[in-house]
Amino acid sequence: MQVSVQTLGHVYPGQPQAVEAVRAVDLEIEAGEFVALIGPSGCGKSTLLRILAGLVTPTQGSAQINGYSPVQAAAEKQIGWLAQNPALLPWRTVRANVALAQQINPQNSRTLTPPAELLQMVGLSDFSDAYPLALSGGMQQRVALARTLALGAKVWLMDEPFAALDELTREILTRELLEIWRTLRPTVLWVTHHILEAARLADRVLVMTPRPGQISAEVAIDLPRPRDETSPEFIRIVGELRGHLGVPVSGGGGHEKC
Ligand code: ADP
Ligand code: MG
Repeated sequence: MQVSVQTLGHVYPGQPQAVEAVRAVDLEIEAGEFVALIGPSGCGKSTLLRILAGLVTPTQGSAQINGYSPVQAAAEKQIGWLAQNPALLPWRTVRANVALAQQINPQNSRTLTPPAELLQMVGLSDFSDAYPLALSGGMQQRVALARTLALGAKVWLMDEPFAALDELTREILTRELLEIWRTLRPTVLWVTHHILEAARLADRVLVMTPRPGQISAEVAIDLPRPRDETSPEFIRIVGELRGHLGVPVSGGGGHEKC
């Protein structure tokens, strides 16, 4: 297993009350698998992802990435991370932002893809000399994606990376990301609170309960991508996810977020 989690729990100490964010999560993800983790806001999704990225030390249980502890895996640059905020350096060009990741993390044992090629993969070849603040939110997130790809990590932890974008940009980026995933075949854990996005992307969707987050259901999706969202099977899966999340069935086509 490339990602493995045993009875993981996390309590944030706090005044006046501690917050139990995650409880007793067990999780196994195979190499090359695309897993979505879905649950309501505040249920502990980001906490789980931050633990896997080595950014938060869990108060219970343990996790391994490629057999390493999350902190070791992060130090070995085995983890690619993408979140809502692209966090680009505004004084560096697009190309220089992507190149920086490779300059400050020289990986002798790995063949790294040149920045120009990475920018081509995310459709930004014509903007490599632009500065981030001159770009739209969607384009900035493409730069952040190229930077995530820059170190060739085999495990991608994605925390609602497209949630701040408008729906159309989000759909386009999601489709392009699937193409990149098909080419590179990393292992992905994709956090979202968007039911349709999870159904579009994942081989398997894990459903989290409200806080403290526990995994309450798992839905496998064995449909070819890009998925036909009008097919009876896709609609059935969206309905099943809505049911697990306790979202009322409205007949509105399943476009609402939970
Ligand atoms: P999600 O990503 O599902 O929205 P989070 O993992 O961000 O949920 O948060 C889960 C719970 O933990 C929330 O109640 C949140 O307020 C709390 N929380 C998150 N980070 C911290 C922190 N650093 N200190 C204290 N509480 C936190
Ligand atoms: Mg979150």
